[in-house]
Amino acid sequence: MTPTHAKSPLVFTSNPLDRASEMRSDANWLGAKRAEPQARFLLFWKLQPLLLGPEAEEATEFYLVDGASLQRVNDAATQEVFLGLDGESPYFAADISVLEYPIATLKTDSRYRESHFRDARAALEVLPIGQTAILGQAKALLDWHARHRFCSVCGSATISLDGGYRRECPSCKAGHFPRTDPAAIMLVIDGDRCLLARNKRFGVAHNHSALAGFVEPGESIEECVRREVFEEVGIRVGNVLYVASQPWPFPSSMMIGCFAEAISDKIQVDGSEIVSARWFEKETVKKMLAGSEIDGVRLPRPIAIAFHLIKAWVEG
Ligand SMILES: [Zn+2]
Repeated sequence: MTPTHAKSPLVFTSNPLDRASEMRSDANWLGAKRAEPQARFLLFWKLQPLLLGPEAEEATEFYLVDGASLQRVNDAATQEVFLGLDGESPYFAADISVLEYPIATLKTDSRYRESHFRDARAALEVLPIGQTAILGQAKALLDWHARHRFCSVCGSATISLDGGYRRECPSCKAGHFPRTDPAAIMLVIDGDRCLLARNKRFGVAHNHSALAGFVEPGESIEECVRREVFEEVGIRVGNVLYVASQPWPFPSSMMIGCFAEAISDKIQVDGSEIVSARWFEKETVKKMLAGSEIDGVRLPRPIAIAFHLIKAWVEG
């Protein structure tokens, strides 16, 4: 499914797998799927996916292994999650971080082709869009399991259930579920101009983007947008319009992209998170979208939802 209003797919969206969420709590069904010869496993080592080809490959895909190869690589207990079905083929992700150098073991498989583990941020630049979505799903889940091995209620070790979409505490029976942290990202608009800001975390001085912030407990997305915009640049916001969303598995964010209509225009940056912010005319932003750096300012890259928000506003 493509995100609402998005005119081109965002990385980490357009997952081609059927998650079969109605079936995965059936341990017998899941066990049978895992044992099927067409079952495929995406290996992760220290949260890095295994990709096909040499490390310098600029466009590649997952290096998937079958159950027999996985067992040869690692027969120790490891965290696995069920990703879904591609037609009749079940897909799983397996965390083999316990191994010291898994490529060496993989090479002992007679069917081995060249492969490498790549940092997840770098991997999303070289994978087809659908595989970036599978990467996001798998990485967020495996990262959550690695961080939630113990019960937050009583401290006992927990066990993974439902194909990895739930952990349960055998002592106090508390259920624990993978977290997704909602964050609003908003392009502040005032007629034919929009506000772009530089966050001190951006590092590179000329990078400007939309504003963003995490939704707090008990807060609606609209309230979050208005609070964050006022906090960071001192602008009051009226209408908030949802545009598109993007999972961002570093470690578990859900970016909710919005347009925010300004009802005041005097900018006052907070100086702590935001170091500078300016209004930009639509014609100027159009040239920047085409790749130009104007007045020492450059837009975010297309992997970010901010780029698509800006593009949707310019083209809208
Ligand atoms: Zn417990």
